[in-house]
Amino acid sequence: MTKSVLINRIGELVTNAPGDAGAADAAGPGAGGGLGRFALINDAALVIEGDRIVWTGPSDRGPAADESVDAAGRAVLPGFVDSHAHLVFAGERSAEFAARMAGRGYAAGGIRSTVAATRAATDAELRAGLRRLAAEMLAQGTTTFECKSGYGLTVEDEARSVALAAEATDEVTYLGAHVVPAEFEGDAGAYVDLVRGPMLDACAPHARWVDVFCERGAFSVDEARAVLTAGQARGLIPRIHASQLGPGEGVQLAVELGAASADHCTFLTDADVDALAGAAPSPTSAGTAGTVATLLPGAEFGTRQPYPDARRLLDAGATVALATDCNPGSSYTSSMPFCIALAVRDMHMTASEAVWAATAGGALALRRGDVGYLAPGARADLIMLDAPSHTYLAYRPGVPLVHDVWQSGMRQPH
Ligand SMILES: [Zn+2]
Repeated sequence: MTKSVLINRIGELVTNAPGDAGAADAAGPGAGGGLGRFALINDAALVIEGDRIVWTGPSDRGPAADESVDAAGRAVLPGFVDSHAHLVFAGERSAEFAARMAGRGYAAGGIRSTVAATRAATDAELRAGLRRLAAEMLAQGTTTFECKSGYGLTVEDEARSVALAAEATDEVTYLGAHVVPAEFEGDAGAYVDLVRGPMLDACAPHARWVDVFCERGAFSVDEARAVLTAGQARGLIPRIHASQLGPGEGVQLAVELGAASADHCTFLTDADVDALAGAAPSPTSAGTAGTVATLLPGAEFGTRQPYPDARRLLDAGATVALATDCNPGSSYTSSMPFCIALAVRDMHMTASEAVWAATAGGALALRRGDVGYLAPGARADLIMLDAPSHTYLAYRPGVPLVHDVWQSGMRQPH
């Protein structure tokens, strides 16, 4: 028989589940199960059975279980869902970061130095780097992460990148269109043909998603459309890097193609905000439709750019996710708590909005109906903070508050 675990005396249980106290949409479309808006239960308990949550409610009504854990008033949250990360690479670029902090600007071309290091690395070296970052993420409360290719940029090196990513996560993204590699300088068209042809053929079997860096210095909107539609024809779902360095047409393309997410969204026009608001997924549509605006404040921190205007997106009705963009160039952080702190301090999100965006928002950006919330039926991915409320993630920035992590019902050693 499957073992059950009761976690009781939880000071604050963030559920993101319709019907729980504080749920704005208690009677809304999400009522009756699954993911909803931000919600929590004070003085709560929950029960895990196998890899699932089977019960949540008031602490004094917690049912008997095989084993019990005393939370002693700590807060429990859904595990973080990091829906944007680049973890298959070799080398590092701290000198470039230092130069930027000394006043030099950021350009998309810096990616090429990581491409050279990645091509020169063995599979074992790339795997070790990926595992180190995945462990780092888990220790900080990330229980689901997406992982992109994009530092190989040959058929062989992109294929091994997605294969290595698939060893670590189900959420694998083919990003052959990250930057035009040096050997195709001046002939982007030929490179796009490779990305949407033989490289896609080699990568599609290992990937769920297709992505393009649609930006000045990377790929135009027409090139992005060509790559994403080719990916769709192979059963991949689009997501896109858009409007990181300046205004562009990437957000409109994301909505036009039904991409799961438009990522960065730092320089948006009014029309972009309207389009994202119109395409906002309803929480109950996690498996099917809608375009999320995924904000990556680690990238603005690491490039000293203005932060995206989260308030404008939220007030318009867009669905916002937060993710790390973990990569060795622009955002070498694996910490969702750090991104939450930035979002609250510098992007004018409330702590509740930021925590929702880092959990349920990420789940919607990955079209996952099983993570990002804590209610019967959800995967038992949860974190216990060494703090009484989720607000502490922004109130005590830089402090390792993640006390315990359960992933698929398994308590992680620490
Ligand atoms: Zn990225």
